[in-house]
Formats: sequence, structure tokens, C-alpha cells
Amino acid sequence: MLLYDPDIAIRFPDYGFQIPDPGDRASRVVRELLESGVVAGTGGGGLSQSTLLEPVTRDDLARVHTADYLDSILSSDPAAALHAVYELFDAHGRPNRYYPDAAILPLPDLVDRARRHVAGTMLALSHVLEHARNDSFCYFLGGGMHHATAHAGRGFCPFNDIVVALRAVRAQGNAKRFWIIDTDAHRGDGTAALCLEDPDAATLSIHMAHGWPLDGPFFEEDGRLHPARIPSDLDIPIPEGGEPHYLPALARGLDMLDAMTRAAWNGAGPDAAIVVAGGDPYEHDELPSASPLRLTLEQLRKRDVLVHSYLAQRSIPQAWIMAGGYGARAHEPVTQFLRYAASHGLT
Ligand SMILES: [Zn+2]
Repeated sequence: MLLYDPDIAIRFPDYGFQIPDPGDRASRVVRELLESGVVAGTGGGGLSQSTLLEPVTRDDLARVHTADYLDSILSSDPAAALHAVYELFDAHGRPNRYYPDAAILPLPDLVDRARRHVAGTMLALSHVLEHARNDSFCYFLGGGMHHATAHAGRGFCPFNDIVVALRAVRAQGNAKRFWIIDTDAHRGDGTAALCLEDPDAATLSIHMAHGWPLDGPFFEEDGRLHPARIPSDLDIPIPEGGEPHYLPALARGLDMLDAMTRAAWNGAGPDAAIVVAGGDPYEHDELPSASPLRLTLEQLRKRDVLVHSYLAQRSIPQAWIMAGGYGARAHEPVTQFLRYAASHGLT
């Protein structure tokens, strides 16, 4: 299933943020797939599904985020909470790339859209669990906010939709054990921190060996260890120039993840996998902080096919979310993978 909500696009200039991303990646993916006939339109045979998502509830968010943080970000003035997420103010409290007078939408609208992204990830995961026998693949054109931790958002990630979704389906009694496979260019540090003490959520992150967030401080202002220093169950750092090693390292990493968890889970596999399929390792991605990792479109195709095949061969339901990807060509890795998925009868 392909899950798409045309009303959750976040266009930063609408909120007065000077962040150069058009925010139209999902719609470009859908337009290209429709134009080429790879998927049908809404109601056109079930190959594609557009869904209007309702914002996730505070109760769902509260399984992951602290009450103080939710009080702040869900308030009528979430600017302070969004400060850390989008770096809206500098060290002296002056606006940084933030021009509130230029905003045409209020900040709570952005929070509302982020909550609907969380709802999309929840829906994708619920779907593959409920249809594990005959439709165990779902791609949500949104989500992937893997830097958010319990007490704050960071790195353009207001909420950690991945762990919110995981805990929501657990609360419904639908599943217990999960793999989280994160192929975004930036390390999935918020997810790692949130899953550190969760023996039934195994995290694999393959990412740039250096740069944000790994070159940040060791400790947060309150003395807590910075999430960037908290390990995933399996971290695979790729140094600059290490692109030829990326696919073999990922393949070995998946085998290690499988072996680690079967040993820990008495031979059992996960009930489902969440794939955080970042497009920002793409060589044509325009986000400067993702530039040290430069995979070709073909390498990204092989990456996604490798992960998909690995899970499919083990009959593990797989919920994919879009995660990072910036600039004019950011839709290309997603589009090519969904073409592959459609050609294999998956969407
Ligand atoms: Zn990223």
C-alpha cells in the first residue's frame, strides 16, 4: 500500500523559516507515478491510496515525549519548543533564519501537520501488521523524524514518529518486537536514545561517519549524555569516500541484526520492521550537512531492494517511511523504489 496525504506537506517559508526546501517531495513522487501509470489514482483500483490523516493524539505522543515538552509544543505558542527543532533563535536569543512577520500560517499549523505525519507512520505500521499475510508492505510518503527525543525535538524533527508508532501498536496488543532499519544520511540518534532500554526494539543505523549530529557536544545543557553519543544496537558509519563499501556493509549489518535479535529473542524474528528510508544520502541531495555521503541513484536502488528483499524473504511485515531528502531531485530515490515495488505487485 502507498500511503499519501496531500495536506501534510510542510513548506517552511509559510511559517517564516528561511529553510530552502520546497516541501513538495511527496506530491512530486505521486505526480510522476500517476503520469507514468505506475499507480492508479485515488479509488482507482487500490494500487494507490490517498488518506486524510487526523493528528495523532496527545496520549499517543505521551508514550514517548515528556509532559513538559508536550505542554510546550502543543500550546497556542509553540515557538519556544520549536526553537530546538528548527534552530529559530541564536545563542543570544535573537531570531535565526526566522522571520515571523513573513509567516502566512501560524506555528500551531506546523505542529498539526507534524502530528499528522506521526499518524501516517502509525497507520503504515498498523496496516502491515493487520495484513501481514497478504499485504505486508506499506510506504508512507512522510514521517521519519528520527532525531526527536523524549524531552525535545531536534534536527527538523518535532516528534519521533517511529517510536510513537511502535509503542502505539504495542499498546493495542498487535505486536511486540521490532526492527528499525534507518538508512538516512544522518544517524538515527533520537530513535537510538529512545530504544536504548527497550530489549524488544532493535535499531540499525547506517549513516555518515562524521558531521551532524555526530560532531556535536557530548553532553546536553542539563548534563544528560547527548543522544548522538547513545549507540544504536548496530551502527554502521560510512566515512567520506566510503560509498563503494556501503552496500556490502549494509548487507552484513542486516545479517548481524538478524543474528543479534534471534539470539536475544529465543530464535524469534521481529513482528515487523520500520524502514527509515532517507533519500539524503543521494549524490544530488542539496542539504549541505548530508553532502559527505554521496550515493548514486543506482546505489540507492540497490540499497532499497536489498532491505526490501531481506525482509520479504523472512516474511517480516515492512512499514517504510520517507525521512530526509532535500532539493530539486529529492523525489528521485523514492520514485524509483516505488516503481520497483509496483512492478513486484507491492503497492
Ligand atoms: Zn537526514
